[in-house]
Parts: sequence; structure tokens; C-alpha cells
Amino acid sequence: AEMSSKPHVLLVPSPGMGHLIPLMEVASSLVTHHNCHATLVVVSSNTSPAQSQLIRSAKTQKLYDIVELPAPSGHDSNAAGSVFTHLSAIMLDARSSLRSAISAMELRPAAMIVDLFSTAVLTVAQEFHMLKYVTLVSCAWPLTLLLYAPILDKQIDGEYLDRKELLEIPGCKPVRPEDVVKPMMNRKDREYESFLRIGKEITSMSDGILINTWEDLEPNCLKAMREHPEWKKIVRVPLYTIGPMVRLAGQSGGGPRSELLDWLDKQPSESVLYISFGSGGVLSAEQITEMAWGLELSKQRFIWVVQPPSKGGAEGNDISEYLPEGFMARTQEMGVVVTTWAPQSEILAHSSVGGFLSHCGWNSALESILNGVPMIAWPLYAEQKMVATLLVEELKVAIRPKVLPTKAVAGREEIEMLVRKIMEQKEGDAMRARAKELKASGEEALSVGGSSFNMLSELSRLCKINTEQQCQKIDT
Ligand code: UDP
Repeated sequence: AEMSSKPHVLLVPSPGMGHLIPLMEVASSLVTHHNCHATLVVVSSNTSPAQSQLIRSAKTQKLYDIVELPAPSGHDSNAAGSVFTHLSAIMLDARSSLRSAISAMELRPAAMIVDLFSTAVLTVAQEFHMLKYVTLVSCAWPLTLLLYAPILDKQIDGEYLDRKELLEIPGCKPVRPEDVVKPMMNRKDREYESFLRIGKEITSMSDGILINTWEDLEPNCLKAMREHPEWKKIVRVPLYTIGPMVRLAGQSGGGPRSELLDWLDKQPSESVLYISFGSGGVLSAEQITEMAWGLELSKQRFIWVVQPPSKGGAEGNDISEYLPEGFMARTQEMGVVVTTWAPQSEILAHSSVGGFLSHCGWNSALESILNGVPMIAWPLYAEQKMVATLLVEELKVAIRPKVLPTKAVAGREEIEMLVRKIMEQKEGDAMRARAKELKASGEEALSVGGSSFNMLSELSRLCKINTEQQCQKIDT
């Protein structure tokens, strides 16, 4: 009976740090605040040193169990251009080892939480009579596009990108055609088919959708999704806003303190711009050069995490080849260039950091907001263009280049101007103040009795009921 008193929740992220990190946060929160037992199932594919380190430190903390399943073979781990198709295929193949892992568990799991790329494993949850939840590892607005895409598909002919008019989504902020997610950029691509399929599966296969946002962050969009008559036909399962699920400083644990933090200790308060494009973002060679010049001209301090440009070839890995001649020497006092994984949550939490030039991955955006740091939005792929628009137009915590960085190279003068604006000028201060307001509202949502806290409590209550029902079935 002791065993059944706490519901057991399985979390099954698809490969990728951007999926693993938020689900680890959900696991921690369920265990720490909502009286659950949790197991994180990691399908290891292309495991990076950063991922190994993260998993090691989670194992040391012992908050939840971790089960590592080998990645199914035969998948090209470099198929970065087609995440929907690629990751769903990996997760589809991971089903049999997941099934065995669950059968071997002493504590029967009551619920499974997957991300949008791992909906394929929900059939396994079904077999074990578990509750099934999908989380979009992003906020609500991009979710509206994913769920509404099957309807847009019927309404609109031709490529979305060619349209002059905005894409209307009932009760929500319309979407600029140039902001659509990658799978919608080419309707003939297989990726588009996978995208539409997942959009349907999320609502048809799950008992609820978890969104890494909170009620006060996107009130209109959430209200529309719950109350608009059009939406009632699309989403019949509850929406749980459980955010901000974000890794904050001091939680990554283990390892020696990074030299970057020692360097930050020596810089003035809010004087450093942090630049990063997430776990997968790369710039073109030309854009790297302009970025370097822009930084140098701005005369602001910086930490720049940069990967060599990708041309799909075997070009050199030495980033200095792509930086302007003498850049490193001239900016020696002002900045640091990093080519490895950076301790981002610690950097953003450091008082010397005053701005973030970000690719607008949702985890990065939340980490920035939760540290009260304004952004220069530099979206590259996935739903990042929508996130950029949300940050700039709705939340007003970011500025961005005039033309999307994926459409044209932003020149050094524009970069200099953006950096100065955010670091030196009143506009930066206003955004910083706004970010701090959002930080406070996010913290409130997570605190006892707050909206996100209550959502997770409700989830844990439903899991508990499911556990009790399973026990009764076994008893009788
Ligand atoms: N991250 C990090 N160091 C790096 C790059 C990324 O710690 O050098 C972390 C970052 O803090 C965030 C996650 O990796 O938690 C990236 O997720 P995000 O949604 O921002 O972008 P993605 O990598 O999924 O595009």
C-alpha cells in the first residue's frame, strides 16, 4: 500500500537538450512539490558531453530515477533539417525497449509525459493504462499554429510563405507568413506531413497538453484556446499551463566553476552582452564576420558562444578562421569567444550580464526573462521566429534586426546599433524593467497557490486517482 501512495510519472523526452532540460524540470517539480515519484526515460542519441554531465548530476541528486535506453540504430543523427520526421522515427523505434523498461518497473507508472516529437510512444502508455500528456517544449502561441495547421491546410492554397495576408488563427494573434515554422515553409515536403500528423495526434491521443507558459504571460491566447467556439472543436483535452519550467543557476550541479564566471566577476554590473544560438544554431561565415565587426564597433563587453559555419562539409573547426583579422587581439579586454557548451543558466543569472542576443529557443527565452535580462532576438529555425515576434511585439522584452536573420545578412552597423540600444540606452532599461516584471509574475505562478503550481497539483491528483484505480483492478 505504501508503494501506491505516491503516483509514479514517466517523462519521455525525444533526443535533444532543448527537450531534455524542460522535462527534467517538470520531473523535479513533480517530485519536490507535488508528492510524485518520477522516472526520466532518456533515449540516448548522439549524446554530447553536456548531456552526459547533466544526466550525471541528476543521478547524483537522486530526486527522480533515470532510465537510459539505447538509441535505435539506423537513424542518421545529422538529419537536422527534418526534426519532426527524424525524431518521431527514433521514438517510434524506441517503443519496444520502452515497453520492456516499463514492464520491469516495480512501481507501476500512472502517467506518461512526452514532448511533441515523442507522441509515437503514447501507444505504449495506452497499453499500460497510463494517463497520457504531451508537452510542447515552447509557449502557447506556436502551439496554436501547430494545432490549427490542419485547418489552414484546407483553407489555404499555395505556399504559406508566398502570402501577403497574415495567417488568421481564431482569437489569437495572427501569424506573419514569414514567421511560420520550418515544416510549413514547404508544403510538398514530408516534414509538413509529419507536422500536420503530430498536430492532430497531440489532441487525439492525449489526456491533456502541458504548456511551458503561465496564465499571465499569454492570457489572450490561452483564453481563446479554452473558450473560442472554433477552438472547442479542435482541443477537447485540458490545457495545463505549468511554466516557467526553467533551469536556473546552481541547478546544473557538479564540475568546477567555469572560467567564464570568473571573468564575469571582474566586469561591471549589467555590462556584458551574452550571445548564443542554442544547441543547434549556426550562422553563415559572412554573418559571423558582420557580427564580430558589430560587436567590436559597439564597444560593449560580450561573451559569444559561436560554432563554425555549417556548409555540410568537413571545413575546419577553427572559429578564428571566420573572425576578422585581429578581432581576438583587439577585443581581448572586452570579450570572450567560446566554442564549447557554455553554462548558460549561470551566465544569465550573473549580475554582470545586461543583455542576451538569442536564437529565441523557448528555454533560452525563459531563462533570460527569469533573470530579468532583455534580448536581441535572432531567430533561426523551428518556432523561433514566432517566439521572436512574441518577445518583441507582445512581451516587449526584445528588439530585433529589421529583416529576419534567415532572409538576409544583418550588417555590422545594424548590429552595433542593436547592441548599443539594449546595453546603453533607455530602451534597454525599459525592456530590463519589463523583463523583471515578467520574472516576478512567472515566480508567482510557480509559488504555492499560483496558477502553474495548481495545474501541476491537479495533474498529480489525476495521476493518484489513476494509480488507485489500477490497484483496485489488480486487487479484484
Ligand atoms: N544551453 C547551454 N549552453 C549552451 C547552449 C545551450 O546551457 O552553450 C542550454 C540553454 O540554457 C537551454 C538549452 O540549452 O536551456 C537550449 O534550449 P533552447 O530551447 O533555448 O534552444 P534549442 O537548443 O532547443 O534550440
